[in-house]
Amino acid sequence: MNLTTPLMLHAHRTPQKVCLVYQEKEYTYQSLNEEVNCYANGLIAHGIKKGDKIAVFMRNSDDFIIAAYAVWKVGAVLVPINFRLTATELSYILGQSDSVLVLADAELEDVCKEACASLALSITIAITPETSTEGLLSFREMRTNNIDETGVTIAPLDDAEILYTSGTTGKPKGALFDHNTILNVNVAYNQIARLEEEDCYLLVAPIFHSAGMNLIFLTTMLTGGTLVVQRDFHPVEALKAIEKHKVTAFFGVSAMYNAILQVPEKSFDLSSIRFCAYGAAPMSPALVEQSMAYFGTNQFYNYCGLTEAGPGGIFLSPEQHKTKLGAGGKSMPLTNARVVNEQMVDVVPGEIGELTLRGATLMKEYYKKPEDTQKTFVNGWLLTGDLATIDEEGFITVVDRKKDMIISGGENVYSIEVEQVINGHPQVLEAATIGVPDEQWGEVVAAVIVAKPGETVNEGELQQYCRKSLAGYKVPRKFFYVETLPRNASGKILKYHLRETIQ
Ligand code: ATP
Repeated sequence: MNLTTPLMLHAHRTPQKVCLVYQEKEYTYQSLNEEVNCYANGLIAHGIKKGDKIAVFMRNSDDFIIAAYAVWKVGAVLVPINFRLTATELSYILGQSDSVLVLADAELEDVCKEACASLALSITIAITPETSTEGLLSFREMRTNNIDETGVTIAPLDDAEILYTSGTTGKPKGALFDHNTILNVNVAYNQIARLEEEDCYLLVAPIFHSAGMNLIFLTTMLTGGTLVVQRDFHPVEALKAIEKHKVTAFFGVSAMYNAILQVPEKSFDLSSIRFCAYGAAPMSPALVEQSMAYFGTNQFYNYCGLTEAGPGGIFLSPEQHKTKLGAGGKSMPLTNARVVNEQMVDVVPGEIGELTLRGATLMKEYYKKPEDTQKTFVNGWLLTGDLATIDEEGFITVVDRKKDMIISGGENVYSIEVEQVINGHPQVLEAATIGVPDEQWGEVVAAVIVAKPGETVNEGELQQYCRKSLAGYKVPRKFFYVETLPRNASGKILKYHLRETIQ
């Protein structure tokens, strides 16, 4: 069994079932499998061998899905890369991952050429849908007419993916996974939400990220359901797609739910939705409740995971939302989650420690970074870098990322707690809090605020509002107003960017 097995099995069992919808194109399991084989045989014809690393530098599309499967069918290792990276950043990842080929969107051709030119390695670039300049290969040119399986044997423990974390601290690190581990991730998410063949998942998260790739795309394929892919997230387009394709499952990050709630037109038929999931970044309880009302269902899951775990970790079920809204939840299937102190001893309820994970969905290592790998694993337990608490009933709540915690006058301030209070203010659309240097306190809390359209938020009034729920040292001393918060492509607020730009 490997990542392409579900595609082949469904192509055999339910050949005419719609598997993938992208823009006006629809693929059945059979037609997708055949298309993938045409490209996989093409990769072989172009000299790609088992174990080669192949980078994909694309926005979401059917080509991305086809490229990923074709890579796996030749036993090669997929290296999905954030399409927003600059040539310098791309060049680092291509070199570090030993990529021999990069499959890229035509609009990213110049970045790609610049990145490859600065490397000593010779990397082939293939552009989709076609090349605009001479000398580059087009992805279409790699296609053969051979719809037969490649015949390459792929074992469960063969390497499948290298997923680069965004590198908000230092250079990006590539989390290496084998086929079996990713299948475990798919089984775990499948078991949580009980996906079925009738389910139709809307994919608006970037496929290059572990959530888009493993949590949504490959989990849907394991189930035999339908995947509706959108190139980018646009709230109105997402709502239209839900109505048009009778989408049953939606995953979004907090910023996406916020954008959806701001759409003035409220007449979309969302009755097909069976469940919604949120994750990748904290979402305020107020926004979860508003989103439940908007989507007309309380079937909401909180997925709190990280790339290095597949992205596994902890989750909160719809039932648990009734009493534990705001918590990250308990261990996902095939995972054991604990909150420990620096001696790796479990903390007592209420005490803050680090979330640590063990189980069947963890990466093998950081590719070619033995020291980082060694620092991240302690006796098989993965240190997540997330600070968390656990309550008497075993529910875990992430209070902050270690690197985002603010220390003011010797007191620890967890930025998420302050943000969630501010996010509850009726005139605030969203907020981020960071520590800014202060002579007296070392650091004080600064709040960066986006007001709801047409609203203004008064600083003194906000401070008073915060004082009702927060101790004095946690209340922001400085306020900055911005139009939007800087985010990475997976929807996370770039706090290091705020720390650099806001003083
Ligand atoms: P880097 O670690 O380099 O910054 P990244 O942010 O892209 O890269 P991810 O693996 O996507 O890496 O991020 C995982 C982190 O996101 C978790 O460790 C946690 O801090 C945060 N996170 C994910 N899901 C949730 C959630 N549901 N609630 C709160 N925080 C979450």
